Amino acid sequence: MSTEPRTRAWLEVSASALRANLETLRSGLPEGVGLIPMIKADGYGLGMLRAARALEPVAPLALGVATVDEGLRLREAGVERRVVVMSPVPHGSIGDAVDAHLELSISDPDALAEIRRVGRGRAAFHLEVDTGMGRAGLDWRRVGEWGPTVRAAATELRWSGVFTHFHSADLASGAAVDQQWQRFQDTLAALSPLGDDVLVHACNSAAALRFPGLAAGAIRPGIFMYGGRAGDGLPDPAPVATLRARILLIRDAPPGATVGYGATYRAAEWERWATVGLGYGDGLPRALGNRGHGLIRGRRVPIIGRISMDVTVVDISGLEGVERGDVVTFMGRDGSGEISPDDVARQADTISYEILTGITSRVPRIWIDDGGS
Ligand SMILES: *Cc1c(COP(=O)(O)O)cnc(C)c1O
Repeated sequence: MSTEPRTRAWLEVSASALRANLETLRSGLPEGVGLIPMIKADGYGLGMLRAARALEPVAPLALGVATVDEGLRLREAGVERRVVVMSPVPHGSIGDAVDAHLELSISDPDALAEIRRVGRGRAAFHLEVDTGMGRAGLDWRRVGEWGPTVRAAATELRWSGVFTHFHSADLASGAAVDQQWQRFQDTLAALSPLGDDVLVHACNSAAALRFPGLAAGAIRPGIFMYGGRAGDGLPDPAPVATLRARILLIRDAPPGATVGYGATYRAAEWERWATVGLGYGDGLPRALGNRGHGLIRGRRVPIIGRISMDVTVVDISGLEGVERGDVVTFMGRDGSGEISPDDVARQADTISYEILTGITSRVPRIWIDDGGS
């Protein structure tokens, strides 16, 4: 690794903006609601361990991950907070998870039986109720069948939580959330009385912002914390991640010159082109070719031609004084300009989650704690 991480391309991550966004989420909630920040998928691509450390002052109730390996990495790094593994657990990882005191999500009675077998009373579980997401959880309609099994298991294991997940909390209409919430409440009633230790949780970022009354015992925010919008009509998060790269070469292109694979862009007149050290191999979506733009000193510069694996070319015609080594910002704030993760996502026809988690390991993450957003 070169010792200076800002030589080619890098991602700046603001710890204080991350905390500020979590504070925005928290400020709308009733008193006493716990926080389970989701730091899965390497902290939405920004760095899981750094995110865990940045969130420590907030004293989260627990940290949320998707996989057992993510939880084990936290433990290896010395993180002692409660950790909940949200995805259905592969049975082969249950032993490791229990040894590392990870709390497991349960989607089927078989997993519960397996945890009982290896857990020997030490294991903690959260019951997931499927109220319409359809990818995990026990079917809310059949609580009469699985309820007694869960109760029996709870005499031996620690029943730490029960949760559901909304599929459409980003939509302005709350109809789908209402329906899932009602199903969840019916399930909780069928399981009652729940012990005092059983934490009830349901809300992701969008649900926590839109329906703070459904926060229950804890919320599980992700995208909004990391600077992605949670849905229409909801507040803008503070920018957290800034993707920058340096100009490696500058050339004057005569009329008719072409750029990139397939020669999809042709200079109409004399133009000035800059080759920037960032490509789809770094996670800049290839779909941005001939569509997206970067910022140089706050001014927009269009991406021309197809994006290559390692470099991207921008048209800097008319911008005075641009030199090799200058910085181009492809996401985040630069001067008075800003490209949000959602702007990039829209141009690439995807969601901010995929943009952030798609930034590859070639790009060093530089965490800063700048005391502001
Ligand atoms: C990822 C995830 C979240 C966070 O969702 P956001 O939309 O990023 O806020 C919450 N709960 C579960 C179960 C998840 O998998």
